[in-house]
Amino acid sequence: MTDLSGRVALVTGGTRGIGLATVRALVDAGATVVLTGRDEARAKEAASAAGAAAGLALDVTDAKAVSSLVRGVAKEHGKLDIVVANAGIMEDALLGMIREELVDTTLSTNVAGTLHTVQAAARAMMRKKTGSIVVLASIVGEYGSAGQTVYAASKAAVANIAKSAAKELGRSGIRVNAVAPGVIETDLTAGLSEDAKAENAGKTPLGRLGRAEDVANAIRFLVSDEASFVTGQVLGVDGGLVL
Ligand code: NAD
Repeated sequence: MTDLSGRVALVTGGTRGIGLATVRALVDAGATVVLTGRDEARAKEAASAAGAAAGLALDVTDAKAVSSLVRGVAKEHGKLDIVVANAGIMEDALLGMIREELVDTTLSTNVAGTLHTVQAAARAMMRKKTGSIVVLASIVGEYGSAGQTVYAASKAAVANIAKSAAKELGRSGIRVNAVAPGVIETDLTAGLSEDAKAENAGKTPLGRLGRAEDVANAIRFLVSDEASFVTGQVLGVDGGLVL
């Protein structure tokens, strides 16, 4: 069993789905966990249900808000060991249907939001010269996906944020990795038809769609000392699916 006792962790978008499962996995391993959500009441509710230390409101597109929240968490708990930049959105559109607003919201949430979180985490971790950051890429960031050009491009960028930040922060004792989930059953994929779900499960060597806990377990490994020589990696959590 992974031991994270004494560690302080922050998970963005931790009110549901993969974020909430990650909060639970880190709490189970003994970490003190702060989660964030866009809505304060939902964040507080999720935190108390999952045994997290606090649930705070945060919109990751707001660089100043991210910076001040991360600084505040590190100050209150004396340090920050683990940050999971999980918040993200997905909206499909065929090339001819892509609106400028979709480009703006997707890139500002998935790319800029992840970047803000990694920057703030690095600043907080730099003082102690130790820490581990995980960002949420996607299988479509590697292979591409028809109807998902904007989302897939944003997730390719997220994977590269992990690789580049890992190179920059390694000498400061900070590891940065990405997980690249396949099709995971959460609110994000709830709009998929039963046929599409069955088709994806059928194409997956392990014969099923993923669960939020599958991704959370991989994240818990990456932030733990068991992964102490792992950085700059993009770990597929996809049941072997190749798109
Ligand atoms: P979800 O929609 O259930 O949860 C996303 C979370 O991010 C929510 O809590 C939401 O409130 C939060 N969020 C969105 N925009 C935000 C913002 N601007 N500021 C703060 N929080 C914000 O989705 P999920 O499936 O749990 O996805 C979690 C992450 O995993 C996302 O980055 C997603 O792109 C990625 N991912 C999911 C899948 C999948 O199949 N579910 C596959 C690959 C990658």
